[in-house]
Amino acid sequence: MAYIITSLCVDCKDTACADVCPVECIYEYKGSDKDKYPNQLYIHPDECIDCTNCEPACPWKAIYEEDETPDLFKQCIENNRQIMEDIGDFEVAKVVKGHAPTAEQVRNNDAKWGYDR
Ligand code: SF4
Ligand code: SF4
Repeated sequence: MAYIITSLCVDCKDTACADVCPVECIYEYKGSDKDKYPNQLYIHPDECIDCTNCEPACPWKAIYEEDETPDLFKQCIENNRQIMEDIGDFEVAKVVKGHAPTAEQVRNNDAKWGYDR
């Protein structure tokens, strides 16, 4: 089991999750295949120790425990898993402090993905 970063992270990438991960298992894609790996962070499922830190830390509410990943984002489980095959194109995400989104921005991001909490 592991935690999953869903598509709700795409283009957000404030790295609050990476800031609280004790084992540095949250990765950023450094390759050029942006179709395969959209602009978001990814959790290495074999390195995640299920500490739970990242889920409440994500201001965009983009992280779920694997079994609780909404149906709409089930594909993200595989998307996180597949980074293991291409790990040479990934680096541990560097922490870059950003501005926390407003509640409205979070709602708008949800709506962009057709997600109704
Ligand atoms: S904190 Fe959430 S939105 Fe920010 S990079 Fe991590 S998963 Fe993405
Ligand atoms: S649950 Fe803990 S170990 Fe797993 S990605 Fe989140 S912060 Fe890292």
